Parts: sequence; C-alpha cells; structure tokens
Amino acid sequence: MKVAHYLRASIAAAVATIVLKTAAWWLTGSVGLLSDAMESFVNLAAAVFALAMVTIAHAPADEDHPFGHGKAEYFSSGFEGLLILGAALAIIWAAVQRLLLPEPLDRLGLGVALSMVSSAINGGVAWMLLRAAREHDSIALEADGRHLMTDVWTSIGVAAGVLLVSLTGWWWLDPLLAIAVALNITREAWGLLRRSIDGLMDRALSEAEQAAIRRVLAEHVREGIRFDHLRTRRAARDKFCQFHMHVPGRWSLWLAASRRAAVERALSQAVPGLKVTIELLPQSVEPAGLQETQEQA
Ligand SMILES: [Zn+2]
Repeated sequence: MKVAHYLRASIAAAVATIVLKTAAWWLTGSVGLLSDAMESFVNLAAAVFALAMVTIAHAPADEDHPFGHGKAEYFSSGFEGLLILGAALAIIWAAVQRLLLPEPLDRLGLGVALSMVSSAINGGVAWMLLRAAREHDSIALEADGRHLMTDVWTSIGVAAGVLLVSLTGWWWLDPLLAIAVALNITREAWGLLRRSIDGLMDRALSEAEQAAIRRVLAEHVREGIRFDHLRTRRAARDKFCQFHMHVPGRWSLWLAASRRAAVERALSQAVPGLKVTIELLPQSVEPAGLQETQEQA
C-alpha cells in the first residue's frame, strides 16, 4: 500500500471518531469528553493536509524542483503541530469556564462506551500507520500515527476520569482532566513543530549515518588521496552528502573518475538511498572561497 492509502484510512477513522466522540460529549455534557472530540477534528484536518502534502512530496523531481519535493512533508508536520497547539488552548479555555460555572454531567455510561468504541478504531489505525511509517520512512505517517496513539491513551484516561466522577460526585475532576489532556497535547505539538523546523533548517544526517560515511572514506584514503569538506543533510526521505576528493595532479582525469566511482559505490552500499556529490580536485588546491586545508574528512 502507498502512503496516500494509509492517510485515506486515517481520514475515514477521523470522521468516524468525530461522530462518536461528539455524540459522547453531547449526551454527557462533559468537558473532558469535549476535549477528546476536539482532538478528532484536529486529526481530520491534519490527515487531509498530510494527504495533500504527501501527494506533492512523492511527485518526481521536475525542472522547477530538481532536488525533488521531499521537504513538503515538513509542512505537514509543522501544520499539524500548530493545529494541535490551537486545540489545546481551546480545551483549556472550555475547562476553565467549567471550573467557574459547574454543570451536572448526564448519561456517563453511554458516553464512555461511545468513546471506547472510537478509541478501538483509532488504536487499530494508529498501529497500522506506525508500521507503515517505518516501512516507507515517512514522517507524515509517523506524525499521524503518533498523534492517533496519544489520542487513544488520553481517551482512556478521560473515560476513566469521567467514570470516577459518576462514582464519587467530584465534578471538578472533569475540567481538571480536560486541562491535563490539553497540556499533554501541547507537548506533542512542540515535538512536531521542532521536527519540522529541523527539517527545514537542513539538519545533518544522524550520527550513525555520518560515522558510516567517515568509515568508508577512511577505507579509501591512499597515498595521494584524501577527503575533506564533508557536509551532509537530510530532506524528508532524501539523504545528501557532499565532499572533496583530492588526488595527485598528475593523474589522468580517467583514473581519478574511476577511483571516485569506487567511493560512490561503497557509500551507496553503506548508507542506502544516499545521494552523493564528490568534487574532484588536485592535491592542495581548494576552490575559490575555501581555505586550503590539510585536515582529513
Ligand atoms: Zn578540499
């Protein structure tokens, strides 16, 4: 299945849970259950946006975007982060209103039952999305899946709290739970926002990937061959790496290019999917604008 199919399943699940959770809030009047319902609206909007973005992100490179459209996925996680933050603030506002003006809760058993049915749907979809995210290395799917999984846990917490209200009569527990849910949502939002900022800022590859690249380069150092000015970056699923390969100036271009090809092959084996750019240069000559360096990559 393609990434887009998973996101369509996530949209269908969001519509179903909106109906169920809104009904649960309507029946009971609980702000805790309202906070749950609001999260589902966030899911729907985010999944629709992620679907649009992933369709763009997976479009092949074209004349206007020669490096591909991979970074589009970062808009998706950034947008989802902002939406979640908005929902959290709305929930806190509703909960504070309720603390100031308490209202009785009604038909709690039925409300909790509806909430649990929607949690079962969300849990199944979240599990499927997280498995697919690893398979496709997609942060749009991971963001969606992790968010749905958080929903499941908060729904269970809210339902348990609402049941406790009906057993004990502690009405203030309901708005307090809603605020706790909102604070947890805020934490999740921050994680998604930071992730999208990292991506847009051209963060380097992971330590493990950089170490693998350096190992390959060290293996190819010979008399007269050295590497320097190594730089790496990640753009969604695309991994890039560029560096200088300095060879003796008397070598033929043919010999130098064949040595470079060997390094390229070794790198693409060490880090699958890595896009490598190697600049061939004579020993102790650096391009204009770069200082001469003897340091090894
Ligand atoms: Zn250099």
